[in-house]
Amino acid sequence: MATAPLPERARQTLMEKLVSLAKRRGFFFQSSEIYGGIQGVWDYGPLGVALRNNIKRSWWRSMVELRDDVVGIDAGILMNPRVWVASGHVQNFTDPLVECKKCHQRFRADQVSGPRHESDGGEFTEARQFNLMFKTFMGPAEDSSTQVYLRPETAQGIFVNFANILNSTRMRPPFGIAQIGKAFRNEITPGNSIFRLREFEQMELEYFVPPADEMKWLDYWKEQRLEWYLALGIKREHLRLRAHGKNELAHYARGAFDVEYEFPFGWSELEGIAARGDYDLDAHQKASGKDLTYFDDLIRERYLPHVVEPSAGVDRSLLTVLIDAYHEEQVRDEQRVVLKLHPSVAPVQVAILPLSRKEPLIATAQAIEHELRPFFRTEYDDTQSIGKRYRRQDEIGTPYAVTIDFETANDQSATIRSRDEMSQVRVPLTQLKQALQERLH
Ligand code: ATP
Repeated sequence: MATAPLPERARQTLMEKLVSLAKRRGFFFQSSEIYGGIQGVWDYGPLGVALRNNIKRSWWRSMVELRDDVVGIDAGILMNPRVWVASGHVQNFTDPLVECKKCHQRFRADQVSGPRHESDGGEFTEARQFNLMFKTFMGPAEDSSTQVYLRPETAQGIFVNFANILNSTRMRPPFGIAQIGKAFRNEITPGNSIFRLREFEQMELEYFVPPADEMKWLDYWKEQRLEWYLALGIKREHLRLRAHGKNELAHYARGAFDVEYEFPFGWSELEGIAARGDYDLDAHQKASGKDLTYFDDLIRERYLPHVVEPSAGVDRSLLTVLIDAYHEEQVRDEQRVVLKLHPSVAPVQVAILPLSRKEPLIATAQAIEHELRPFFRTEYDDTQSIGKRYRRQDEIGTPYAVTIDFETANDQSATIRSRDEMSQVRVPLTQLKQALQERLH
């Protein structure tokens, strides 16, 4: 078995191979595919939703449950439209758009090279600002007074609940409020499968701190967030932290970093981590007329907390996990495709496979699967040849398979096959659970 780094040409088709694997095995599909699809929206199949849930659970566990300084919320997707005026989104949440005068296709101005459309030579129009927020109407009347927005980020749901959390919990700065939820952006050019979507999910933390400590916490969170991606099993050499240059920073931001991943299409943002000052709370305090300051008993001072925001995407994390796990290996004369997913996120952790469809193998295998199911994410499979079933489990990233054979009834043992080493060890049935726990945890 040899694992070679992918040559340049292979990397170019990696995205295509992954999207095809995702469809073949049920990770994700284009939305509404039987009607020709809809751009920028994808649906997750049985394995995709399992992987997604595992990623979200890992984030929630590390950001909320394992900390005593962070609480969670779940705010509505629809909000009072005044929120988006105050936050600056109505005015500024725009991308520059140009249109080809010949074919009328539209592009983001910062993504085209030169004044003309490369494919047909058509001249581009002057750039105009295009607002990325989706609009809809609330209630039975459809006019400007009932217009609302689908939230383009989850963060504002946190800011507008800041006083509620302060008053209903015993949290005091430095402390954070976390949220996972859907966000919508009418991206001009969605693409790269689930990298740039129009409907996606975010995992955001707003961490409120005394103003003087803001930069210290920015430093802290950028390291913490990098660690989280490493714990998902993503290789260090494919990750980097990139500091924003002065001209990239929003006018209110004191500093910002992107966690970037080396995608097959180049280094791109996985997560943004920004020191936002008191911009958001100040804006909502002014627009709502409600006091959002905090009085610190110890120093007898009232202040508006500053905020550090790590903002990650569920879909981009999932894509990253899949790309990073994808391997092609030469095994004897055959090519093996294997997803080397970290056991903590693998949709299936243990596959239980009877060698043949004969009794008593099936009954034994099913009984073993039921015993293991409360402790691991398991899957029972008795279709096709054992070779094909191993190949399928390799492709969906299952770290271990337990094979029940004709000897099992006699020696009360089964074989554990490892996905990565393809090694096989014989283990007594009574020790199966423990042997798997040692390998998976
Ligand atoms: P980009 O520069 O790629 O448009 P952004 O800087 O606008 O991203 P943020 O507003 O910082 O993104 O959003 C935080 C995170 O939310 C991103 O790092 C990404 O993981 C996720 N995200 C943002 N927009 C999208 C999208 N259109 N599709 C999928 N995920 C997204």
